[in-house]
Amino acid sequence: MLIVKKFGGTSVETPEKIRDVAVRCAEDYRHGEDVVVVVSAMGSTTDDLIALAHSVQENPSKREMDMLLATGEQISAALLAMALDAQGIRAVSLNAFQTMVHTTNSYGNARVQKIDTERIMHEVEDRRIVIVTGFQGVNRYGDLTTLGRGGSDATAVALAAALNADSCEIYTDVDGIYTADPAICADARLIREISYDEMLDLASLGKTVLHNRAVEMAKKYGVTLVVRSALNRHEGTIVREVTDVERMLISGVALDRSADRISVIGLQDEPGVAFRLFNMFAKAGINIDLIIQAVGHDGLKDITFTVSDHEMEAAMDLLSRNQKRLKYKSVSTDRDVAKLSIVGAGMMSNSGVAARFFEALYNEGININMITTSEIRITVLVADEDGEHAVRAVHDAFQLGKE
Ligand code: ASP
Ligand code: MG
Repeated sequence: MLIVKKFGGTSVETPEKIRDVAVRCAEDYRHGEDVVVVVSAMGSTTDDLIALAHSVQENPSKREMDMLLATGEQISAALLAMALDAQGIRAVSLNAFQTMVHTTNSYGNARVQKIDTERIMHEVEDRRIVIVTGFQGVNRYGDLTTLGRGGSDATAVALAAALNADSCEIYTDVDGIYTADPAICADARLIREISYDEMLDLASLGKTVLHNRAVEMAKKYGVTLVVRSALNRHEGTIVREVTDVERMLISGVALDRSADRISVIGLQDEPGVAFRLFNMFAKAGINIDLIIQAVGHDGLKDITFTVSDHEMEAAMDLLSRNQKRLKYKSVSTDRDVAKLSIVGAGMMSNSGVAARFFEALYNEGININMITTSEIRITVLVADEDGEHAVRAVHDAFQLGKE
């Protein structure tokens, strides 16, 4: 069997933890498995490097940023190889150049296109544990690139696909994916199995255990993922194309506090208005989420939508600079809102899910500002102060705490 194991920053934070990771990798190796390991940078290394860059240049070039950030993963990869060696296990660390992880050109946000497997397989066949630096790649110009924050997950999935691995294990500091944030819901339960689509919806809604692009790639290449803790032996959560007939109606409840609301008031009620507005945001790379357009009146209409709080300023700036062109009267905003979602593939074949969701909120006197749905998800916008309360009410209503 060939196993790809990925260890995140918190799992390789200290020399002791790196030794623990080595012990864990050694077990599988001694059982005769082929082991390829992907590591992130130690603890807060990437953040520290970013701060360091900004201390010498306010606006560092993206190319030099990647050159700098790529060093973080190289440290943990080399240290893990040394820790394995200390246990008498043959290991070799490889960076993106040595492996050849080919990516798109865009510095800071590159995508993996292809990974050469020759060198890795050569080492594996030589009975070495191969440790590959996560998060980094090489572009067409022969420059180092990085895959965006949290990108080591994507490296692991891309490697598992390229090597045709038998399993891809993502080790982290939690036991897996929960039905709700355990810090909010005392009876949140570990999900045993979840589909790619459900995971994507949960992840984009605030559960940051797995990098979204990694899940998309896993889905595309049919790589089964296991998300589990580096600290214990729990089995974790399996992410794959689930077809289990006894599926839960709802897999989980997610709360995203980072949402802010913007209402553009008094737009012309004519064709092309929504296009011009959202095209402007799309061009600026600003992600728009929930959208509501009310029925027009007196030739005017309002459009309300949400953006992530870190893009709020840029969005407002764009709006005010384009007021003349877009011909709107005013803008109102609300930063104290949160997105609450339920996600579940079981929703597709069951009616009454939405009603039960809304009833749970009504019973608690929680007001809904906006609603949006997809095949496997219902999202509402509520006041931030109602958020946690709402998560518990909905978690209860769908009995997610019960096996
Ligand atoms: N070290 C990178 C980061 O902090 C990549 C990763 O951890 O996956 O974002
Ligand atoms: Mg991560």
